[in-house]
Amino acid sequence: MGQSFNLQGILQSFRVLTSPRLMVPNIVVRDIRDINFEQLHKAGIIAIAFDKDNCLTKPYGLELHPPFKDAWRRCRDVYKDQVVIVSNSAGTPDDKDGQQAQAIEHTLQVNVLRHQKKKPSGGEELLKHFSGIKAGRIAFVGDRALTDVVFGNNYGMLTILTRDVVTEEGDNPMALRIRRMEHRVLAFLDRMNIKAKPHPIPIDLHAVVLQSPPAPESKEEAKADLAAEETRKKKNEEASEREANLERSKRDSVRGEK
Ligand SMILES: [Mg+2]
Repeated sequence: MGQSFNLQGILQSFRVLTSPRLMVPNIVVRDIRDINFEQLHKAGIIAIAFDKDNCLTKPYGLELHPPFKDAWRRCRDVYKDQVVIVSNSAGTPDDKDGQQAQAIEHTLQVNVLRHQKKKPSGGEELLKHFSGIKAGRIAFVGDRALTDVVFGNNYGMLTILTRDVVTEEGDNPMALRIRRMEHRVLAFLDRMNIKAKPHPIPIDLHAVVLQSPPAPESKEEAKADLAAEETRKKKNEEASEREANLERSKRDSVRGEK
């Protein structure tokens, strides 16, 4: 399972260079457990869409991250059939015969959007799914600023960034690096006082966010980056050493046979 190259996404992302606030979410939470779905609905957000990988499931996973079970139930109780998953893997042309989408619909009990264009493009396909609901009354929740947040902001949805990922294990290495970079850029934009475009529906953050994440610490994230790089280097060195030992023992055994 995997994602093909997202050229549209990369091209769209260049728009962010001229308008950086496009990647700034309206709301930041640690993960979906911090969203008060009842209050969000009361505020006028009557439909909600979620990214999948590292927002609801582990990367390329087909099951809900178990600690999210109660939050997910609350979301489905409040939003009923106005919940949909928009993934850049499941439900796209990469998903052969929609097998992943079907599996996720079975385990997460909500629809997975079948769509041609990958985020941050393709908002029309989501708006068509929520026919009759204006973009301003839809929330988009995801862990990636350059795909999920830009996607939602492009179309005027309320954007919610989940800052703590489910796991970095098994994630696409490129996505992993870009996400860390996004967090640093968001911290920088915050320091520059570049905020998200105000959403037409006034949202009382104290009501809809149960617990905000700590302020972005770019230094800490840089440290985490460095530590991950060190681990990767060490693993590569160990693998090379194992290979060299194997080669050496093969050569020795060939010599022994002569
Ligand atoms: Mg994701």
